[in-house]
Amino acid sequence: MKKAIDKVLVINSGSSSLKYQLFSMKKGERLAKGLVERIGCGGPKDHTEALKQVVAELGNPKDIDAIGHRVLHGAEVFKDSVKVTKKVMAECKKLVKFGPLHMPPNLGGIEACEKIFKGVPNVAVFDTAFHQTMPDCAAMYAIDPKYYKKMGIRKYGFHGTSHKFIVQEAAKFLKKPLAKLNVVTCHMGNGSSFAAVKNGECVDTTMGLTPLAGLIMGTRCGDIDTAAVLSIMDAEKKTPAEMDTILNKKSGLLALTGSSDCRDIVSKAEKGDKMAELALEMLAYRMALYIGAYNTVIGGADAIIMTGGIGENSTEVRERIVNRLGALGIKLDKKANKIRGQVAVISTKASKIPVVIIPTNEELMIARDTVRVLGE
Ligand code: AMP
Repeated sequence: MKKAIDKVLVINSGSSSLKYQLFSMKKGERLAKGLVERIGCGGPKDHTEALKQVVAELGNPKDIDAIGHRVLHGAEVFKDSVKVTKKVMAECKKLVKFGPLHMPPNLGGIEACEKIFKGVPNVAVFDTAFHQTMPDCAAMYAIDPKYYKKMGIRKYGFHGTSHKFIVQEAAKFLKKPLAKLNVVTCHMGNGSSFAAVKNGECVDTTMGLTPLAGLIMGTRCGDIDTAAVLSIMDAEKKTPAEMDTILNKKSGLLALTGSSDCRDIVSKAEKGDKMAELALEMLAYRMALYIGAYNTVIGGADAIIMTGGIGENSTEVRERIVNRLGALGIKLDKKANKIRGQVAVISTKASKIPVVIIPTNEELMIARDTVRVLGE
């Protein structure tokens, strides 16, 4: 008989930082949490050194049963989380082209764990996997199919671990079997994406080939006419790399208001700043637009679920979104909407579709998937 998995270490390894959390799955508790920064730029020289620091911070534990890793992109190869083997690592390395900034440190974190935690199984949990159930009509772009065949150009979607977590939690909260659950999940943070979930599976999502598509975000523009991008590149003689930086790092709320943080923008708007007011209305408008569209896509939602830094905390942004959902028979409960950071229904009892806040927990989802994959 297999030994039950208890201690699970969750690693989110980025280009210059490594975040970790340690869970006891038996106790259902988080035992430790931390962050190693400045990897390769003043701090530890690489991810192996960073991991040694984590081991020291955890007091040299000898009882870690498994390690779960956040990996950005699984493309069409990985439709679920997977136990890491030599073959899996070789496949992952072929996917670096889909995430040249994130994939190398994600995979570097796995390799560091293989060296330091010898014999402990590693599981890769992909940000894209939850969205792999999307039908072609949602995932394909209307361009020559040779670009899909040659380069894999299609919609993949991201934040899958967060969407999956809140779908599972929503099923519990609404007391509905996951296989019959229809919800629109709204992950609203510095990066934002929504998913249309029918019978517990993703059928559409707002991000695309990369996280640039869809909603207006802290520093990303979201949906834009691609001809506008070409016009700017042509007029200002921008290279693809420069334009990538403009659209991903210098657009969105930052470009409109000078700040990417919703709290700043709400306070500016309250003081009468017209651009801050416009930015909030643009943000809420596009979010409501996708909620309406996805409600149609799934044939009517059992609930709209909000999460992420903004979804869990911003009374003001939630109010602006929900006030645009009247046509779906949804009305805001202003008093309930004051809630922050906890599970709550913020729509009135008479609303046709409840709007529910569910705090996300991507690390716990990674730990749960690690246990599930290793138990199979
Ligand atoms: P995340 O990327 O999920 O950490 O979310 C970051 C976003 O959440 C930022 O735009 C913050 O302004 C917003 N946020 C975090 N806490 C609050 C809060 N208490 N009230 C309003 N917005 C918040």
